[in-house]
Amino acid sequence: MSRAFNFSAGPAMLPEAVMRKADSEFLDWNQTGMSVMEMSHRSKEYMAVATKMEADLRDIMAIPDNYKVLFIHGGASMQFGAIPLNLCEQGDTVDYFNTGVWSTKAIKEAARFANVNVVAGGQEANPTEIPTQSEWSFSEDAKYIHICSNETITGLEFQEDQLEAIFAQGKPVIADMSSNIMCREIDVSKYAMIYAGAQKNIGPSGLAVVIVRDDLLGSAREACPTLLNWETYANNESMFNTPATFAWYLAGLVFEWIKEIGGVKAIAEINQRKAQKLYDFIDASDFYSNKIKDSERSWMNVTFDLKNSELDTAFLEASKAAGLLSLKGHRAFGGMRASIYNAMPEAGIDALIEFMQQFADQHG
Ligand SMILES: *Cc1c(COP(=O)(O)O)cnc(C)c1O
Repeated sequence: MSRAFNFSAGPAMLPEAVMRKADSEFLDWNQTGMSVMEMSHRSKEYMAVATKMEADLRDIMAIPDNYKVLFIHGGASMQFGAIPLNLCEQGDTVDYFNTGVWSTKAIKEAARFANVNVVAGGQEANPTEIPTQSEWSFSEDAKYIHICSNETITGLEFQEDQLEAIFAQGKPVIADMSSNIMCREIDVSKYAMIYAGAQKNIGPSGLAVVIVRDDLLGSAREACPTLLNWETYANNESMFNTPATFAWYLAGLVFEWIKEIGGVKAIAEINQRKAQKLYDFIDASDFYSNKIKDSERSWMNVTFDLKNSELDTAFLEASKAAGLLSLKGHRAFGGMRASIYNAMPEAGIDALIEFMQQFADQHG
């Protein structure tokens, strides 16, 4: 059996060590005679899995004690509606940055439940840079500020100075970190709430991790459905109803794996090297190019175009044959995209660059 390098944006590659471990205990977890998947979520054995998973995540992200960690079904998109339902009343103003497709989706859903002020962006569907700070217009009375910290489709990522300027507004800051959670160390205490769909940097799809500061709980509006109310999860260890038990377990294995390789700090060094190598190669080439503003390029999603787009199909066919999968860019942005999340080994980047060089030599 051989595993290819899978550059899919999500569901995405998971660490091979995690997949092997899950495989080895698939039929019989910890001598219980059953799979984790077949086990009651209330059992002592499963509770131990759940408790350890949360403790490991708290550890690797250094999540302060005054934050709750919730594991919620429905992915990141379900939180688009949950956020305004938990944090404001109909007619309240909320501030959203629009830096791409995922921001736009969050805004569209929030607009059903609140009065959305777009702080900046939105003129084009797929901007290639974050609007400059002089263009930002916050509203005085916003209940919170929402950002998508990494736009997965274009590979556009907020930078530290921009985040600092947003924190300086003194409002609760909410971040969709679906595609860059745990890619580098962050200070969780600067955020009011962080959420992420699992299928990029955490585990299998269908699950979202929500990290929320205590004082934001308990003010969901009357009409908020029970299962969209964060308090329901906080008060029931995310087990008000049956959780996605197998997804939790796999996420737990990923957290263990991160700890084993030295935590997020160690991963971040590898990530930076991986991204830099690939961007450097693209920049040095006259066959490929990247449209994103240099200083705002994502570590996780590297988009690139072939100068001659007529070669796109040939590129995709040849890369697939070389064991480099899912390099096709999002249909909304075109071109190519290599999603290089935590689980993508450095060898995958080397193989991709080698392939890209060969392809350019053949077709240049
Ligand atoms: C993938 C993604 C989502 C959607 O996640 P789902 O789990 O499919 O709802 C939301 N935001 C960002 C930034 C994403 O990359």
